[in-house]
Amino acid sequence: MNITPLDILYKYYGYTSFRKGQESIINSIINKKDVLAIMPTGGGKSICYQVPALYLDGVTIVISPLISLMKDQVDALKTMGIEAELINSSLSANEYNLVLENIKNDKYKIIYVAPERLDSLDFINLIKYKNISQVAIDEAHCVSQWGHDFRVSYKRIPYFINSLETRPIVTAFTATASDEVREDIESVLNLNNPDIYITGFDRENLSINVVKSSSKNRYLLDYIENHKNESGIIYASTRKEVESIHEGLSKKKYSVSKYHAGLSTEIRKENQENFINDDIKIMVATNAFGMGIDKPNIRWVIHYNMPQSIENYYQEIGRAGRDGEDSECILLFAPGDIHTQKYLVEVSIENSDRKRVQYKKLQQMVDLVYSNMCYRKTILNYFGDSLENDCNNCSNCLNEGEVVDKTLDAQMVISCIARMKRGYGATMIIDVLRGSKNKKVLELGFDSLSTYGIMKKYSNEDLKTFINTLVSHGFLDIVENIGMRGSYPTIRLNEQSLKVIKKEIKVEFKEAKVTKSR
Ligand code: ADP
Repeated sequence: MNITPLDILYKYYGYTSFRKGQESIINSIINKKDVLAIMPTGGGKSICYQVPALYLDGVTIVISPLISLMKDQVDALKTMGIEAELINSSLSANEYNLVLENIKNDKYKIIYVAPERLDSLDFINLIKYKNISQVAIDEAHCVSQWGHDFRVSYKRIPYFINSLETRPIVTAFTATASDEVREDIESVLNLNNPDIYITGFDRENLSINVVKSSSKNRYLLDYIENHKNESGIIYASTRKEVESIHEGLSKKKYSVSKYHAGLSTEIRKENQENFINDDIKIMVATNAFGMGIDKPNIRWVIHYNMPQSIENYYQEIGRAGRDGEDSECILLFAPGDIHTQKYLVEVSIENSDRKRVQYKKLQQMVDLVYSNMCYRKTILNYFGDSLENDCNNCSNCLNEGEVVDKTLDAQMVISCIARMKRGYGATMIIDVLRGSKNKKVLELGFDSLSTYGIMKKYSNEDLKTFINTLVSHGFLDIVENIGMRGSYPTIRLNEQSLKVIKKEIKVEFKEAKVTKSR
C-alpha cells in the first residue's frame, strides 16, 4: 500500500488531519509543481514543506533566515526521528565537515541552510549532483525590496538553484501578502508557473477589538488588573512609549518586562526568555519583538498605538493564542496615532516609492480602524483570503451601536472643502469648520466663507474622527501633496462627495460606543 501525506503527518507529527490549505499545498508539491504559499505566522507552514520532503525521494533544502528558528525546527525534526541537519554560522569547522560527509553519504532528508551559506563552494560542489527534491524558501518575503525585512543574502538563492544539475521543485513561504511582495518573490526566485495559495489567515480563536478610547492608560490599567495572571504583550510604536508604559506598570508592581531595539542584545535576550518561560507575565515592546516567538499561551495582545499596516497588525496579534485557546486582541486607537505613524514613515523611509507604498498601507490600516464592517472579514479580504459570514466575534460585529444618518454633517464638511478651493490638510479644514481665529485661517480669508464655524458643536477630536471616517468610507480622498517641507496629505473631493452634496446618496455610520474608561 502506498504511503500518503496524511500517513506521514500522523506517523511523525501525531496529527490526525491537515489544517485548511495545507493539504492542497502539499498535493501541488508532490505533483512536482512550484508553490508560493502565503500563510500567516502560526498557520502551519513548516508542515507544508516538511511532509513533501518526507514523501518525495531525495533531499529537501530549506532556506531560512533565523539561526535560532532553524535550530528549533531541526531539533524538533530529530526528536520525531527525521534525519535533519542545519548549516549556518553556528557550526564549527569540524561540525561543518561532518555535515558535508553525511550529505555525501545521503544521510539526510531535510537540510536547513542559512542563505549566507549558499555560495559556499564545498557545499555547492557536493550538493549539485545530489538528488534534491525540493528547495523550500521560508520567510520568502526577504527577497523583496518591498518587504519589511529585505535581506541581500536572499538574492543568492536563484544562483544557488541554477547551480544544481537538475532543477528541483521550488517552494516559497511567507506571511506577507502584498501584491508587490508576491510579484517580487515569483520573479526574483524564478518560480516556474507556481500554484499560489493564500490560506489559513483566519485565526478563529482571536477576538479582534478596536477601542476608540479617550483614555488609553485608564483602559490599559483596568484591563491588566483584570488579566494579571495571564500572559500578554503590549505593543507601542516608539521606544519612548514602551519605556513609559513599562515604568508605569513596574511601579504598580505588575510582572512586566520590556523589549525594543534600544536595549542591548543581552538584555533583550534575557527579557525575551523571561517572558517565554513565564517568569514574567507582561511584555511591553515595539514591533522589534516577536519574530520567531512560538509561545503558546499568550492570552492577549494590546496595541497601545495603531500599527503602520494591516500586515504588521495581523502579524503582531498572531502571536496570541497559538495554543488554539481563545485570546483577546485590543487595539487602542486615538487619531493622534495616525500622526505618529506618518512621522515614523517620513523619518524612517528614504526611497520615495517605498514611502508611497507605506503611506498607502497606513491608510488601509486607518480605514480598517474606522470601518463598520466585520473586522475579521475586512482583514481576511485584505490578505486575499475569504470568510463567508461575519465573525460575530469582533468589536464591530458585537457592537450594538445604531446606524445613524450623518448626511447633513457630511454635506457641511464637503461644502466647506469645496469652498476652500485648493486642497488643505484636515487640521485647516477643522479650523475653518469650527470657526478658529487662527492666523492662517484669517489670512486666507476663510472666516468669510459661509461654512466658517458651522460645525462648532463638534470637538476638535470628534471632527477629526468624523473626517477620517468619511475618508475611510470613500466619501473623501486623501491626496499627498508635495510641498517645500516634504509631502503632506490633503483632503480632496471625489465623485462620492459630489453625490452626497446632490443628495443622491446618504452617509450612514454605525455610531461606535465611545469608551471613556471602564
Ligand atoms: P508557521 O511556520 O506558519 O509560523 P508552524 O509551522 O510553526 O507555523 O506551525 C504552528 C503550530 O501549528 C505548530 O505548533 C505546529 O505543530 C502546529 N500545526 C501545524 N499543522 C498542524 C495540523 N495539521 N494539526 C495540528 N497542529 C498543526
